[in-house]
Amino acid sequence: MRTGIGSDVHPVESGRPCWMAGLLFESDNGCAGHSDGDVAAHALCDALLSAAGLGDVGAVFGTGRPEWAGVSGAAMLKEVRRLLDEAGFTIVNAAVQVIGNRPKIGPRRAEAQQVLGELLGAPVSVSGTTTDGLGLTGRGEGVAAVATALLCCRA
Ligand code: MG
Repeated sequence: MRTGIGSDVHPVESGRPCWMAGLLFESDNGCAGHSDGDVAAHALCDALLSAAGLGDVGAVFGTGRPEWAGVSGAAMLKEVRRLLDEAGFTIVNAAVQVIGNRPKIGPRRAEAQQVLGELLGAPVSVSGTTTDGLGLTGRGEGVAAVATALLCCRA
């Protein structure tokens, strides 16, 4: 068994589609970034790569690989799953917490868990929290996410 940790933060941009935890939140502003700004998906990718010892999102999808620019968090998760499988790892489970005022995770938690679970082929727990008005997430300037993952090595 191997565990990993990941995190991500992106600035909120007015008028940008809000993709979070694999879902589109129609009435919220989304995050700016190299891809679709889904910090939950990005933190999960980092946690999975961390657990496998395969580096990080920057190394796998960074600006050095322009073919990945603008790609969805879902596509990134699928690619990470493929890389892990190729390296001999099976995903046991993963968890991600979204930190910010919007979007509200609770009402769509089950949906997010289902979408992410299908993408990774393993249970994914999704939670949300705020920072009580403090810091960049509390002021609504950005959204953060932290994630963990557990892998089983088939070798
Ligand atoms: Mg990111």
